[in-house]
Amino acid sequence: MKPVGPACSIGSGQVLTPAEKHAAKCRRCLKNPRVCYCASIVPIETRCRILILQHPSEMWRPSATAKIADLALPNARLYIKEDESDERELESVLSDPGVRTFIVLPHEAVPEPAELRASGALDGSFVPAFLFLDGSWRQVRRMRHRRKWLEGLPAVTLRPQNDSMYRIRRQAQPGHLSTLEAVALLLSQVEDRPERFGHLLDLLDLMVTRILALRGMDRDGVPLKTGTRWGDRGVVSSE
Ligand SMILES: [Zn+2]
Repeated sequence: MKPVGPACSIGSGQVLTPAEKHAAKCRRCLKNPRVCYCASIVPIETRCRILILQHPSEMWRPSATAKIADLALPNARLYIKEDESDERELESVLSDPGVRTFIVLPHEAVPEPAELRASGALDGSFVPAFLFLDGSWRQVRRMRHRRKWLEGLPAVTLRPQNDSMYRIRRQAQPGHLSTLEAVALLLSQVEDRPERFGHLLDLLDLMVTRILALRGMDRDGVPLKTGTRWGDRGVVSSE
């Protein structure tokens, strides 16, 4: 059972000084209290484990999505790159004979998770685990190539049919997904009752809509009229 952090304890409507902005973030989701989605999380149980190795620069990034998976999936775990205890723990999971880990790589000539499941490769007494590398494309490439213990892991890839709904960070190419969307797509292919994972996308939509509102935009990214932006009412924006 993973430890559950405190619920967001920061009320809304308070005026924040720049020095308070960082400290005032929700200690659970690490977002501005006006973006915090913690109250909407309904945990989703899975057979598969989701492992995410995150570049530290993603940790406090307003648009980071991997934390949603970490909080909404009891069987997910977020590891921070170069955090010694995190990297050690991840290595021990990868070497656990009771866990069979697949690394999720974009644009590789390897099977999709659904093909893996259909082939029976996920059947057995082991626990299937899927490892995602979370960062920019360049960071992901470095993370992968600088860790010998990632070599030799069987790989899967995702071929999304729909464009990303992630409206706040430009995707490098059409069909690229945010980390959370990739997790949701993968789980929908390997777990029973795939419709359950729509909740992850609902949480993403909630987070994105609130971030856009902080930026003075509606949910489609269209600027709101002057005076309707939260920041205009004296609340310092810090997503
Ligand atoms: Zn929160």
